[in-house]
Amino acid sequence: MNDLTFGIIKPDAVRAGHTGKIIDRIIADGFRIRAMKLIHMTLEEAEGFYAVHRGRPFFTELTRFMSSAPCVVMALEKEGAVKAWRDLMGATDPAKADEGTLRKEFANSIGENAVHGSDSEENAQIEIAYFFSQIELV
Ligand code: ATP
Ligand code: MG
Repeated sequence: MNDLTFGIIKPDAVRAGHTGKIIDRIIADGFRIRAMKLIHMTLEEAEGFYAVHRGRPFFTELTRFMSSAPCVVMALEKEGAVKAWRDLMGATDPAKADEGTLRKEFANSIGENAVHGSDSEENAQIEIAYFFSQIELV
């Protein structure tokens, strides 16, 4: 089994001291952490990561926020990893997120919503490769 997805513990959650609790939840949910690091993205790096959203009304707000403080980037392995991680994250808007999801518990707004997850296997590969080299996947 080596279904992989890519996740971020976003700056709001790191700043609020939720990193450890979120990692606990990831492990308890059965993910294997294949790679993990604390980084502080430049604006250019955040713009590159979110290039698909360029032109959307929230692009500037999103990339400024993602480059405002450190975040934790992760490669996560589980059967059906992309969907499993999105299920654990919950809806983009925390007001609409189900009980028991990370965004319900840790997110404050649609803009600062605690975690990121890839939306497809193809994007998971691209996003993992954006932050990690092959040798960093353990
Ligand atoms: P992510 O890609 O971060 O896992 P997602 O796939 O649930 O979240 P996307 O539609 O890909 O949501 O949007 C990417 C990110 O852009 C969201 O997580 C959120 O931080 C921000 N975003 C999306 N819609 C809005 C909005 N209407 N206003 C402000 N920020 C938004
Ligand atoms: Mg998305």
